Amino acid sequence: MTYTKSILCQLNNGCMGCCGRAFPSKEEIKKAIEKNTSEFKELDPQTEKELIKFRDRALPTDLRNGVCRNLIQKDNKILCPLHPKQNNGKDLREGHCDINYLCQTAKEFSTWPKHKQKKFLKFVKDNEPDNIDYSIKMDKSSLLEEFEKKRLRPGSNWRPRG
Ligand code: SF4
Ligand code: SF4
Repeated sequence: MTYTKSILCQLNNGCMGCCGRAFPSKEEIKKAIEKNTSEFKELDPQTEKELIKFRDRALPTDLRNGVCRNLIQKDNKILCPLHPKQNNGKDLREGHCDINYLCQTAKEFSTWPKHKQKKFLKFVKDNEPDNIDYSIKMDKSSLLEEFEKKRLRPGSNWRPRG
């Protein structure tokens, strides 16, 4: 089974905006990811069976500080070890989370013409959010709102820098 992809999910070292609900503060999110990572290291899953055991140690609804318990930090990136990119194309998230979910920003982005998409990518780059800020802003659609506000400001001849 394939999953829905957006280039926006890969920006800023990976977005985790749809890997939780009602996110608390950035610090609480970081703590949850640290704890998940230490549980992952302790179990050190290598095989598919072991990864599924890691996944199934908690129900999908049993979040940690609003964050999915599968979300970990590896090589300076926040990632899901069940994602097909980590498992030679095998999607171990199936049945655990909605692999076809797209946030409002990604949905709208997919309908834009190329030149508008390029502007948005440049806008994100110029804003330089770290991956947690980026994820929160994607989840709340606030980057999308900021972008549209700036772009549509009357009399504005705003163009991305560079
Ligand atoms: S919040 Fe949006 S951009 Fe981020 S991972 Fe989910 S769908 Fe992708
Ligand atoms: S299983 Fe992976 S992709 Fe799905 S919500 Fe959890 S961390 Fe995110």
